[in-house]
Amino acid sequence: MAAGNCQQTGHNIQPPQTKDEPMQGRVAGRVAIVTGSGSVGPGIGNGRASAITYAREGARVMLVDLDLAAAQATEAMIRDEGGDCFCFEADVSDAGDCGRIARECVARYGRIDILHNNVGIEIPGGLTETTAEDWDRTMAVNLKSIFLLCKEVVPYMEEQGGGAIVNISSINAIRTLPALSLAYAVSKAGIIAFTRDVAVEYADRGIRVNAVLPGMMATPFVVGALTEAYGGDVEAMMARRDKLCPMGRQGDGWDVARLSLFLASDEASYITGAAMVVDGAQTARI
Ligand code: NAP
Repeated sequence: MAAGNCQQTGHNIQPPQTKDEPMQGRVAGRVAIVTGSGSVGPGIGNGRASAITYAREGARVMLVDLDLAAAQATEAMIRDEGGDCFCFEADVSDAGDCGRIARECVARYGRIDILHNNVGIEIPGGLTETTAEDWDRTMAVNLKSIFLLCKEVVPYMEEQGGGAIVNISSINAIRTLPALSLAYAVSKAGIIAFTRDVAVEYADRGIRVNAVLPGMMATPFVVGALTEAYGGDVEAMMARRDKLCPMGRQGDGWDVARLSLFLASDEASYITGAAMVVDGAQTARI
């Protein structure tokens, strides 16, 4: 898969411009696992941007994805910049795979400091359209996966004396969006409750857990998941989504990555159990 501008929309999903963003070592020496670190289409999604950002800031990164080729494209981008990472093919909705992820990370890098749970699928539809299968699959991939992987990773963090977990939710957890995705919204709301409870449970053991709620972002994920729900025309969908944003434009994967980096770094050492939006005031207005 080639990096670059989104072929369908021309939106800002370009590869990183390293010279413009010097490394500051904000997670230097840390080891990060990023799930869904590939991308469903050409360009930069939330997971890919986050993986690149952690690596740029000094972390060694395990790139987990169901689609190995997509993770390998991210690996090439990180290695091009001199970063340290490796790919691992796994399905995060599978308990056995989650165990393998944690063990492999510790075998390769010796520890796990950051767990970034990015994987998410969206099957559009309200109550009428959503099938029981859609519901179960969405809950398994978006929510149960986080439970399963945290169960495997947290014991290592506890043994090390701490760690940071970043769970990618959505503003759809707290607001109804123009294209209904009932199962998705409920799974993303579940992530907030999960984040809060686990944060409290582990607050005295140095493990911080926070949720990031992206607003409408121009990423390959949106092109793949929502074009049909918006009428089938990618340009029209992107234009409509831009117009719905108070800033007149959607955000992108780098916006999600920068908030995630902050939450994963020591700068956020007193922040845990939080659910933070990165949405250019979309929820403030609605
Ligand atoms: P992406 O482009 O969809 O990339 C996610 C990667 O995860 C894909 O390579 C995908 O592989 C992989 N994946 C899917 N199911 C998996 C599984 N069970 N196990 C392991 N890997 C799996 O997504 P993104 O743009 O990086 O980020 C998406 C996240 O942001 C989701 O959680 C989404 O809900 C959230 N979000 C996005 C927006 C937005 O507007 N873009 C807004 C709010 C929240 P396959 O291609 O094989 O499926």
